[in-house]
Amino acid sequence: MKYIGAHVSAAGGVSNAPLNAVKIGANAFALFTKNQRQWSANPLTHEEIVSFKQNCAEHGFTPKSILPHDSYLINLGHPQADELNKSRVAFLEEMQRCEQLGLDRLNFHPGSHLKQTTESECLTTIAESINRALDQTCGVTAVIENTAGQGSNVGFRFEHLAEIIDQVEDKSRVGVCLDTCHSFAAGYDLLTSDSCAAVFAEFDRIVGFSYLCGMHLNDSKKGLNSRVDRHNSLGLGVLGMEVFKFIMNDPRFDDMPLILETIDETRWAEEIKLLRSFAS
Ligand SMILES: [Zn+2]
Ligand SMILES: [Zn+2]
Repeated sequence: MKYIGAHVSAAGGVSNAPLNAVKIGANAFALFTKNQRQWSANPLTHEEIVSFKQNCAEHGFTPKSILPHDSYLINLGHPQADELNKSRVAFLEEMQRCEQLGLDRLNFHPGSHLKQTTESECLTTIAESINRALDQTCGVTAVIENTAGQGSNVGFRFEHLAEIIDQVEDKSRVGVCLDTCHSFAAGYDLLTSDSCAAVFAEFDRIVGFSYLCGMHLNDSKKGLNSRVDRHNSLGLGVLGMEVFKFIMNDPRFDDMPLILETIDETRWAEEIKLLRSFAS
């Protein structure tokens, strides 16, 4: 089963997210469980939790079709102790919010070394951050998103994802999310069916499809290996449609959230229809 949706608004409360997903014909969705640009948030109320679960159940959304995303402020690889601690506290709270909502995965950007440590030290710090969060929660998988490699962000090579996973103690609760735009900007050629096959074979060899917990389906404004993270609507960027056709026809991408983070939300319903039409 292909679960296709978009990163929908949770304005007014998380229980609105599944309703917004239904409006665009999605059978999957992503959401922020709190304001992504603020450190603090009010705890989820009992009513909000019940209403979220009810709306999901009513419209057939199960945890494997939902991909919560954490706050953009969090840097689990921060080189400074006090800042790192602030991020770890915030990340734990995000994991706990997923637990409360009955969700089983949390998607996050691995982190940045800010040119103050090495890539490898940063990856070790991130793994330690994940270990701490997993120790204090249960049932939620930490899902590392690959990055475009912009600035000092780590996680743009499959090897980085593998290096983090390698240092996570509970491998049953760590996973990855691949973003098509980020992969391309990081230098992975997804332009043809053959190049897609090669890239995903490389991913399988270095990380392993058993760790794949979701995908972000975005076209890219910037070119191969640009190391710049600029999403575009499907078909309006430089990626073309082959990668999306490839994903829609490959069972290794079944039963996980496939999420649009494309820039024009008025096109989401159309984009979802288009993706479905690719599945033969
Ligand atoms: Zn993404
Ligand atoms: Zn992005």
